Amino acid sequence: MNHFSTLAKTDHRYLWHPFTQQQEWCQEEPLMIVSGQGPYLFDINGHRYLDGNSSIWTNIHGHCHPHIVKAISEQAAQLDHSSFLGATHPKAIELAERLIAFFPHKTLSRVFYSDNGSTAVEVALKMTLQYWQLVNSPHRNRFVSFSNCYHGDTTGASSLNNIPLCSDPFNNIHFKVENVANISHLEALPNPESIAAIIIEPLIQGVAGMRLWPKGTLQALRNYCDRTGALLIFDEVMTGFGRTGSMFACLQENIFPDFLTIAKGLTGGTLPLGATLVTEKIYEAFLGSFGENKRFCYGHSYTANPIGCAAALASLDIFEQESVLEKLPSKIRHLTEGLKKLEKISHVGEIRQCGLIAGIDIMLDSKSHIPYLWEEQIGAQVCKNAWKYGLLTRPLRYTNRGDMIVFMPPLCVTHEQLDEAIDALSRAIQEVTD
Ligand SMILES: *Cc1c(COP(=O)(O)O)cnc(C)c1O
Repeated sequence: MNHFSTLAKTDHRYLWHPFTQQQEWCQEEPLMIVSGQGPYLFDINGHRYLDGNSSIWTNIHGHCHPHIVKAISEQAAQLDHSSFLGATHPKAIELAERLIAFFPHKTLSRVFYSDNGSTAVEVALKMTLQYWQLVNSPHRNRFVSFSNCYHGDTTGASSLNNIPLCSDPFNNIHFKVENVANISHLEALPNPESIAAIIIEPLIQGVAGMRLWPKGTLQALRNYCDRTGALLIFDEVMTGFGRTGSMFACLQENIFPDFLTIAKGLTGGTLPLGATLVTEKIYEAFLGSFGENKRFCYGHSYTANPIGCAAALASLDIFEQESVLEKLPSKIRHLTEGLKKLEKISHVGEIRQCGLIAGIDIMLDSKSHIPYLWEEQIGAQVCKNAWKYGLLTRPLRYTNRGDMIVFMPPLCVTHEQLDEAIDALSRAIQEVTD
């Protein structure tokens, strides 16, 4: 047996993959990725793929960028990890200062580190609850999120989610959350004075199917929160770090929340690190003498891991050194042009784009909006077929709106590579749906 088939057998014997029907997984040869360079990934058989979903929405500057690799290796040799409980370290300090510098004075001003997007959301939830107790408003204990939203998989974060296909088995341990479809639905909620916080994925909902919010949604939300006193949480785990065309999505509408969660792209997509950015108002409520027991009792063993922080700093360097944001508008326009070609394919329905994020609906009947049967996994078939043409991505289908192909390349993607990907998608969709 060769190396590949030995490894594949061992995977099938010992592993359990996320969001995966293992019965199916174990019947097929696994895609085994062994290296990455720029926007490309390479499998064990030497095939090259454009990373069309940025390795589940994490990668920013391409794989194994020399500047990040150097920062990681130097940090690993200098200080691998030391606890952030009762000690600090230079990389976490420098990173916090640089993150806060993206936001105007008197908006977000403090950084609380964690490990990933879900825990960054957990932090926002727990801080919210404790905050309201500390300011003598314990009756504010309701959380509001939006229809079809996704905020992570840990129990607190997934309580906020509105994706029945995934949530149902866990409903008994999820806390109660009110879901609203839009701002007018929110306005109609009774007793706004008991709402603790409202959470939204700004500009675009990811897992929901790359759904764009109408312009002005963030402003309307900010107004609502200012008027009612509810706290506002922006979950920028997907939208952060240039994905939508600006460093953070909220900068496009110049609206700032009380909490902002980041993770995925924070380290350029290299290491797990999360952070919750908060305002001074929230922070100050937790101040007091030790005996008052106002401190925030939360933290993970790897909070503010120095290697992760070093990678994040290196990623921010690259934004400057390579003028990453400045180069985005022409790439975004080029993607828009490319997506127009896909629109002409008969089973392609709506296509939505926000920055370098695109969602391509695949429909049995695109004119009458009739989706394929869920069990057919048509999106998965398309994505698998795209491997042949050198493109790697994943579909989404957690709602009854039908199958959708995600295209979200690393920001370093070139015009030529975008053309390559559009061509691959076009062929893969037509072959599967014709
Ligand atoms: C991915 C994602 C999360 C969860 O992040 P993990 O790092 O996977 O835990 C939370 N919110 C949004 C909007 C996401 O896209």
